[in-house]
Amino acid sequence: MVEQLQKLVALQTVDLKIQEMERTKDEIPQRIVALEEDFKKEEERVQSLRLEVEKLQKERRVKERELEEEIDRVKKAEARIFEVKTNKEYQAVLKEIENAKKLNREREEEILGILERLEEMQQNLGQGEKGLEAQRKECQRQVNELRQKADSFAEEMASEVQHREAQKKEIPPDLLNKYLMLLEKRQGIAVARVRNGVCQACNMNLRPQLYIELQKQDRLIFCPNCNRILFWENGSTKPKET
Ligand SMILES: [Zn+2]
Repeated sequence: MVEQLQKLVALQTVDLKIQEMERTKDEIPQRIVALEEDFKKEEERVQSLRLEVEKLQKERRVKERELEEEIDRVKKAEARIFEVKTNKEYQAVLKEIENAKKLNREREEEILGILERLEEMQQNLGQGEKGLEAQRKECQRQVNELRQKADSFAEEMASEVQHREAQKKEIPPDLLNKYLMLLEKRQGIAVARVRNGVCQACNMNLRPQLYIELQKQDRLIFCPNCNRILFWENGSTKPKET
């Protein structure tokens, strides 16, 4: 019986290892998605900077054209001043010129403001694009590394699964079925160690009589609370440290 229990404990050890590997394996695609999402976010940020720069450049062109037209208009008005016949007309043209010049100064100020903003935005965009390129490479590198890791991990897992199948063959079918049923119903733990009289899977204190029985290791003992197969931590079934 000790020998069978030892085999069950060994099988449980492999099963736990495989469960842990499955969890790690599932994490890899999530990490890849997270990396790609980070990159996408940065890409969107840089793209919105780019659009902002384009918008400002367009605004600048419109304002500059407007200013040119207005300067032209002032020149024409200035030429007209020699043709006016009456004082009233003269005053009106002067006023028109004065107003136009004032508006043009405001336009110039506006254009200067746009140029300043444009310079700053272009600097940000340049940095963003450079950073994005570096991030693209880094993201690609990490994704490749994770994919490679997933591949070698899959191989490692396959060999553990093979190992488990070989171990299963060593266990009598009735006992194996019992084990597999418990494994399924008890969150992947069918065999529980007992430490100081306590089932380590459900924390139940064993009755002293049962604990003594367990230590004899001459028959299978089940936890009265969680029904798992018990093994005495200090007994000869103690699993090898892995
Ligand atoms: Zn228990």
